[in-house]
Amino acid sequence: MQKRWKWWVGLLLSLTLLLAGCGAAKTADNTAASTSSSAQGSAKAAVQTSVPQGTISIKMLDVGQGDAILIQTQEQTVLIDTSDVDERDKLRAQLAKAGVKKIDKVILTHPHADHIGGMEVLLDGSYEIGSIYDNGMPSTSKLYLSYMKKAKARGIPHHALKTGDVLDFGGGAQFKVLSPEESLVQKGQQKGYKHDPNNESVVGRLTFGQFAMLFTGDAEKEAEASIAARYGSELKSQVLKAPHHGSKTSSSAAYLRLVQPETCVISCGAGNDYGHPHKETLKKYAAIHAKTYETDKNGTITITSDGKSYEVKEEKS
Ligand SMILES: [Zn+2]
Repeated sequence: MQKRWKWWVGLLLSLTLLLAGCGAAKTADNTAASTSSSAQGSAKAAVQTSVPQGTISIKMLDVGQGDAILIQTQEQTVLIDTSDVDERDKLRAQLAKAGVKKIDKVILTHPHADHIGGMEVLLDGSYEIGSIYDNGMPSTSKLYLSYMKKAKARGIPHHALKTGDVLDFGGGAQFKVLSPEESLVQKGQQKGYKHDPNNESVVGRLTFGQFAMLFTGDAEKEAEASIAARYGSELKSQVLKAPHHGSKTSSSAAYLRLVQPETCVISCGAGNDYGHPHKETLKKYAAIHAKTYETDKNGTITITSDGKSYEVKEEKS
C-alpha cells in the first residue's frame, strides 16, 4: 500500500514537472521569440552603428541651380540628385573631376527638373549605374518618363524608398529613409491624387560612426512637421543639407531645433530666379550659430569625416 502511495506521488510529481516543463518550454519559446525580435532590433541597431572604415567624402557639387551630391565611401559611390537639364555639362565635368565612372546608387529625391534633369548624363552610356532609387511616386514629367524608359532598357534596377528603409552605402555608412511615409506613397498611387512633389521628397539621415548628415531634398514645412513628429531628437545631425535650396518655405524653427546642425550646406545657382537662399533662412541658420556654405559662393563643398570628426572644404571651380 505504501509502495502504491509512493507510486502515485511519483506520478503526480512527474506530471507536475512535465507541466512545469511545458510552461518552461513555452517561456523558453517566448524568450526565444523576444530574443529573436530583440536580435533583429540589435541587428538593426548594429547596422546603424556600423564601424566606419576609412573616411567618407560628401561633395555638394557646384552644379548651378539644382542639387547633386556625390557620396564616396570605401566601397561605394552614391549620387543624390542630378541637378537640372541646363546644368548637364557642369554635372559631367564635376563627375569627371571626381574620377567617377561607376555609381552604385543613384537616389532621386523627387521628380522636379532641378533634381532629375541630369539623368540623361548618367544614362548616356558613360557610367556604370548599379541601382536607381526614388520616392516611388508616379509622375507625368517627360524627364521622369524618359529616364525610367532608358533605365529599364539598360536593365538598371529601380527601387522606391519609404520611411524605415535603410540603404547600406558600404564602408560602415548607412542611409536611413525618414520620408515619404508609406501611407503617403500609397495615397500617391491613387489616380487623380494631387501631388506635392517637394513634400514627397526622399529625406534621409546618413550616419558614419558618430557623424550624421541630414539629406532633405526639397522638403518643406509640411514634411518637416511630419518628420519631426515621428523622429524627434533622432534627427540630430552635425550637417544639414539645406532643404529646398535655402528657401524660406523650409527650415522651420522647430525642425532646426531638433536637427541642431553645426553646418548647413546650400546648393543654389548664382543669381537664381527664386532668390535662393532666402535671407529669412540664412538668419535662422545664423541664429542657431550654424556655419553656412553655398555652392554659388563657395563652389563645390566637400565634407570629409573619419566617423569621429569632420571637416568642410570649399573648392571654387
Ligand atoms: Zn529643387
